[in-house]
Amino acid sequence: MLNLVLFGAPGSGKGTQSARLIDQYGLYHISTGELLRDHIARGTELGKTADSFISKGNLIPDQLMIDILDDELERNAKDAKGVIFDGFPRTIPQAEALKGLLEKRGTKLHGVIGLEVPEEELVERLLNRGKETGRADDNLETIKNRLNVYHSQTEPLRDHYEAEGLYMPVNGHGIVDEIFHNIADGIEKRTGIKRRK
Ligand code: ATP
Ligand code: MG
Repeated sequence: MLNLVLFGAPGSGKGTQSARLIDQYGLYHISTGELLRDHIARGTELGKTADSFISKGNLIPDQLMIDILDDELERNAKDAKGVIFDGFPRTIPQAEALKGLLEKRGTKLHGVIGLEVPEEELVERLLNRGKETGRADDNLETIKNRLNVYHSQTEPLRDHYEAEGLYMPVNGHGIVDEIFHNIADGIEKRTGIKRRK
């Protein structure tokens, strides 16, 4: 198994780099943001709850998010060679829960890839994505709140994972391909696992 967390602020490129990682390592991708947006699009009860948090740029409550993740692992990740967690964990309680969910399945986390991008660049990327895709939470007011939430609730995970010896910082500002190569080098150094191509 190769289980990786892609960590970084909103707009740091987690989704973009996930696509490369799936392709190169044959991993199963879990994006909690995509899962929630799918529920919103389908108009499910969960989607209605999620929308009330996401549209303001706030986090979904921990226990709800943890239950969704547990369910997703059970349904879709059982036979996977490993999982990329994109957008989860976002809080310390979520990180502790993830540890338990992986242990319960006889596995563990192998690394946390931290995409580090300057704040001005994040805002620019998110505003552009809002224009191009119409994503409802990519407007200036919500972006500001998402960044505040990131700094107060999510950024502390960096120290948490550093203390566990799992944190791998990667410069996320630059060309997508180069960023991916830096990630792949980090994975190989840490686990000995090579990319496909
Ligand atoms: P990126 O652009 O790097 O992919 P993002 O922050 O723009 O990151 P998503 O990861 O798609 O976007 O998350 C969108 C929203 O979904 C968050 O702002 C939050 O409201 C909710 N969400 C996603 N994951 C979690 C989580 N683990 N815990 C709580 N809420 C979450
Ligand atoms: Mg995303």
